[in-house]
Amino acid sequence: MALNWFKKKKDKQEDATRTEQKPDNVPEALNAEDDPRDEVLEQNNGNASENIENKMTAPPGTAEQNPNPDAPEKSGGFYKRLKSGLSKTRKLLSTDINDLFAGNRKIDDELLEELEELLITSDIGVQTTQDLIESISKKSSKISGPEELKAMLKEKILELLSPELPTAREITDKPHVIMVIGVNGVGKTTTIGKLASRAASSGKKVILVAADTFRAAAIEQLDIWSQKAGVDIIKHKENSDPAAVSYDGIEAAVARDADMVLVDTAGRIHTKVNLMEELKKIKRTISKKLPGAPHEVLLILDATTGQNALSQVKQFNDAIDVTGIALTKLDGTAKGGIVVSICSTLEIPLKYIGVGEKIEDLQEFDPIEFVDALL
Ligand code: GDP
Ligand code: MG
Repeated sequence: MALNWFKKKKDKQEDATRTEQKPDNVPEALNAEDDPRDEVLEQNNGNASENIENKMTAPPGTAEQNPNPDAPEKSGGFYKRLKSGLSKTRKLLSTDINDLFAGNRKIDDELLEELEELLITSDIGVQTTQDLIESISKKSSKISGPEELKAMLKEKILELLSPELPTAREITDKPHVIMVIGVNGVGKTTTIGKLASRAASSGKKVILVAADTFRAAAIEQLDIWSQKAGVDIIKHKENSDPAAVSYDGIEAAVARDADMVLVDTAGRIHTKVNLMEELKKIKRTISKKLPGAPHEVLLILDATTGQNALSQVKQFNDAIDVTGIALTKLDGTAKGGIVVSICSTLEIPLKYIGVGEKIEDLQEFDPIEFVDALL
């Protein structure tokens, strides 16, 4: 089994690499009237977007922060948070698998069909579910109860979670620039806040860039996170040009010798094409200012959107190469099987999962712990 790619420790050592270049034409400020609901959100974000429109996130208290995120307490509170964050999916899979065997039932076609339904409900994906059911049915003689079935599922799921992906490149860039993208409401700004807090508390100099300029509240939300995390923020006025603020952000990061830059971007513009064009322009501007940057394009997905999240990956990846995925709100759904879909069908690594609103609820994705917490 290939478990190497996720075991790679991220190297936080970074070297200085700087280049000064002027951006080419800086785009004109976007019109405030372009702001209303964009198509991407309406088409793809489904039920998850209903309650989060315009919602300000109150960043969590610092008391809960993990003092050293590079060495999280894998077996203590950290794992407990993961487990409690996954409780809805675990209930669906684990408790319901126990129920399948109620009344001394033995494994047969009918039971396997019910299991198939369970797995599909958890959003593992139709094809993957069928593959799992097939391999379980081949070994069904070895299964006499729920615990054996769960153990077999765990083993099979772990294989699916650990595909052979290209080894992550060592992080040697300073500043290391991460551009964060995704549709509206998925948790971009919150994820940036959490990443910034973790990096800052491990001694990194972090700069946030408020390139979601569509609403004043979006800039304000990032500002609150910057204060909580104790990091700098580069921001312009509402409706100013996101490429221009990104340019200034990189310039400031180089001048201030920052280790990490997190660029927040908008998730809604009045057409999908505009959104993608704007993201491309931000990316181009960043690369012109600092060749090689952005070093990471992190796509944020909301687990509560289930399989829909996969189509978002395609749209964003077609427009702007995505290098990593963060999957948020696993705590809010029984569709945690989407993690299996993402890992088994995409060639983009799942780097982080969000299992709650606190800083330590954003965790580096670890397939072994995930599967342990799941079943
Ligand atoms: P953005 O529009 O993509 O920047 O999304 P926000 O960062 O503003 O987040 C939208 C909402 O999702 C906020 O209320 C966040 O607190 C919430 N959120 C983000 N990540 C998680 C998570 O892992 N779990 C839960 N329960 N809520 C989350
Ligand atoms: Mg935001």
